[in-house]
Amino acid sequence: MKFISTRGQTPPLGFRDAVATGLAPDGGLFLPETLPDLSGRLAGWAGLGYADLCFEFMRVFATDLPAATLRPLVDQSYRGFEDPAIAPLRPLAPGLQVLELFHGPTLAFKDFALQLLGQLYGQQCRDRGETINVLGATSGDTGAAAIHGLLGRPGTAIFILYPDGRVSPLQERQMACTGADNVYALAVEGTFDDAQAALKEVFGDQAFRTAHRLSAVNSINLARVLAQCVYYLYAWLRLPAAERADVEFVVPTGNFGNVLAGWLLQQMGVPIGGFRIATNQNDILYRLFTTGEYRVADVKPSLAPSMDIQVASNFERFLYYRVGRDPARVRAVMEQFRATGACRFSDWDHAGFTASRCDDAEIPGIIRRVHRDYGYVTDPHTACAFKDLTPGRSRVVLATASPAKFPETIRAAIGIEPTHPALEALKSRPVVKHRLRAAKGPIQDFIAAHAV
Ligand SMILES: *Cc1c(COP(=O)(O)O)cnc(C)c1O
Repeated sequence: MKFISTRGQTPPLGFRDAVATGLAPDGGLFLPETLPDLSGRLAGWAGLGYADLCFEFMRVFATDLPAATLRPLVDQSYRGFEDPAIAPLRPLAPGLQVLELFHGPTLAFKDFALQLLGQLYGQQCRDRGETINVLGATSGDTGAAAIHGLLGRPGTAIFILYPDGRVSPLQERQMACTGADNVYALAVEGTFDDAQAALKEVFGDQAFRTAHRLSAVNSINLARVLAQCVYYLYAWLRLPAAERADVEFVVPTGNFGNVLAGWLLQQMGVPIGGFRIATNQNDILYRLFTTGEYRVADVKPSLAPSMDIQVASNFERFLYYRVGRDPARVRAVMEQFRATGACRFSDWDHAGFTASRCDDAEIPGIIRRVHRDYGYVTDPHTACAFKDLTPGRSRVVLATASPAKFPETIRAAIGIEPTHPALEALKSRPVVKHRLRAAKGPIQDFIAAHAV
């Protein structure tokens, strides 16, 4: 199978090259050249465990990786999950279930994709006989999940920039207390935007990038989207047959990454009823799906910080299909958006999506209500998904983080402070972080001195 860029100016690549490249050279995002039709395979996949299902799904796309190579990569990716079901479904009420996506090493759903991406990077090192240095900037969860995807992996090093003093103490510990000698937590002065700007400068230096075989961690890698399709498929296959075609997946989202994966799976012939986009007060996607206008606004820090995003980078993949797979139209829309910060779609088609938005002021009340009604504790991101859920159709709510990652918010809402042994263990380990100025020079010097 080949993968094309949404902007149409990159030659199609195989799976391995598309994963290694990340962002397409024309600035676009990779998608399968044609979407496979999976409808004939679903009956045969119904009884598979998570890793088996993931292997069967990924081999449809990773046709340039021998099955004997892919299989152990998939198995290793989900071995570190603490729940034997990997993505367990918890029934809360008739027609209402939660799909728990927080049983991986960093207790958030990003582990599903970044564990597999880490394995794929490791394989790339072995195939090419080269080392890889991975660099990213994070405001929290992505950095921790990326670090845990590469932890201790031979031939790789990972450098994560984050704003010193502006990520939660637990998030910092997940990055800076790993004890692994290929992990560098770089606490930079300033805000997340300063870290991001410095990162762009480092990547803009092509000679430095090539010399150190520098790769980016980001939310747009093709492998991340495909890995995320699998938990939708796994959950859908576990629903009673009568509920499958009606079910609505309710997805807390910021970057459109999580919900995009479910939607793509539906386009591949899995008859899912629909999707609900649940945003926090940073509601660009809610506004798009309710008004047809995609317009940036300032980010307002919220109690659900991993959704504090104003530009939903994965939206471009959805846009490609909405404009009739016409890369010239994608380029025109993205250019207009870059130049003016907005784009209006006169013929916006909801494509079966519904949407909700949740203010910070509402989150504690929702956590309280879900706890009272169902005896279930949700983290603040998942809480957004319970906004305005009227009865009447079968729903699966995606739970994207463990409540134990947000003890203060949960305690303030219901008086209980959730804990998790993995997070408790971090508290007794030394924080090893490197303080740097958020500038190209000091960051490059650090990388040059520690790169593999
Ligand atoms: C990253 C993240 C999200 C948002 O995911 P998108 O890819 O932006 O849809 C939601 N919840 C948690 C806990 C996250 O870490």
